[in-house]
Amino acid sequence: MTSLKIPMPLPVGATIGILGDGQLGRMLSQSAARLGFKVAIYGPDPASPAAEVSSLSFVGDYDDQAALARFAAVCDVISFEFENIPVSCLAYLKSLGAHIFPNPEALGVTQDRIAEKQFARSLGIETVEFAEINTASDLDKAIITIGLPALLKTRREGYDGKGQAWVKTPEDAALAFSALGDKPAILEAKADFVREISVIAARGQDGDIRVYPVGENHHRDGILSTTVAPAKVTQDQQAKAVSIGRQILDALDYVGVLAVELFVMNEGGLWLNEIAPRVHNTGHWTQDGCLCDQFEQHIRAICGWPLGDTYAHTKIEMTNLLGEAVLEAQILAGEPKARLYIYGKGAPKPGRKMGHVNRVMG
Ligand code: AMP
Repeated sequence: MTSLKIPMPLPVGATIGILGDGQLGRMLSQSAARLGFKVAIYGPDPASPAAEVSSLSFVGDYDDQAALARFAAVCDVISFEFENIPVSCLAYLKSLGAHIFPNPEALGVTQDRIAEKQFARSLGIETVEFAEINTASDLDKAIITIGLPALLKTRREGYDGKGQAWVKTPEDAALAFSALGDKPAILEAKADFVREISVIAARGQDGDIRVYPVGENHHRDGILSTTVAPAKVTQDQQAKAVSIGRQILDALDYVGVLAVELFVMNEGGLWLNEIAPRVHNTGHWTQDGCLCDQFEQHIRAICGWPLGDTYAHTKIEMTNLLGEAVLEAQILAGEPKARLYIYGKGAPKPGRKMGHVNRVMG
C-alpha cells in the first residue's frame, strides 16, 4: 500500500480516502480538490452526494473486506465523515497498513453515549445526570434516581433526534423503551439549558490546536435548523468552550476536526451534550465566515499540513434546507448576501438535509 511509503505532510496530488458518502464527504472532497488532492469515497450508495464530486469511488458495505482492501490500496491516508462506521472496519483497514485519522479509539468513545459522558466527566467536563438502561426494569429504577421528565436515547446510532423518546411519567417508561426497539439505552436528566452552542475544533499531527468561535444552534423537531456564528456568548463562555475542545482533542490524541455540542445552563455553565468525531453541520457557517473552513481544516490536519486560521471575519447565519425547502434554491440564489450549497441528493423527503444556505449578517 502506498500509504506506508508516503511520509507526512502528504504532497499535493496524494489520494485521501473518505469513509462515508454523504454531504460531509462531498464538501470534504471539494475542499481537498481545491488543495490539489484526489479523493476516493467509500460508501454504500453508487450515486452518492460525495461520489458525484470525487476522483474515485468505491461502493461497498462497511464490512465488505474485499471492497475495503481495494479502496485502501489507492489511499495515502483515510478518514471518515460518518460516525457510525463500525470500529471493526477501521481495525481491518489498519491491519492493511492504512494511516487513519482521527484514530479509531476516538471513534469508539464517541459512538457510545455512555462512554462519551463518562469520558467527558473524567476530564471534569459537566454533563446531565444519566443512567445505563438495558432492560425495562433498569428504566423503572433509573427514573427514581434521575427524576422526570427525562430523555431516553439509544446508546448508539441516534442522530437528528432519531432514537430518542421523552419519559414524562412513570407510565411512559415501558412504551418509550419499546419505541426505541428495546435496545441498550441511556436515560438522561432533562437539561434546563438557556441555549445550545457548539464548538468546532481541530488538532494537527504536531498537536497544534485551532478552535473556531462558538455558534448558537436552533433545532426544530430534533433536527438542526440554524446556526448563528460567532454566537453571543460571554468571553468566559468562549474561553471555556475553547478549553473543553482542547481537553477533548488532547485526551483522545485526536487528529482532524471534531464538534462538541454544549448546553449553556441557566447559571452560565457549559455542559457537554455530545461529541461528533467529524466535520459537523453546526460548522458549515465557517465556509463563509472564515478563511479556512472546517472542511479544509480537516483535510489539512489529516494530511499533516499546517492548520488554518479560525478567525471569523464575518457573522453568518447558516440555515439547513430540509426536504422541499431545496426547491426554493433559485429564489435563495437571488439573495445578494446568501451563498448556497446543494448536496446533489435525490428526492426531497421531509426532514432530509438537501442543502444549506449561509447568509452574511449585518
Ligand atoms: P442529541 O441527538 O443528543 O444531540 O439531541 C438532539 C437535541 O435534543 C439536542 O440538540 C437538544 O435540543 C435536545 N436534547 C438532547 N439531550 C437533552 C437533554 N438531556 N435535555 C434536554 N434536551 C436535550
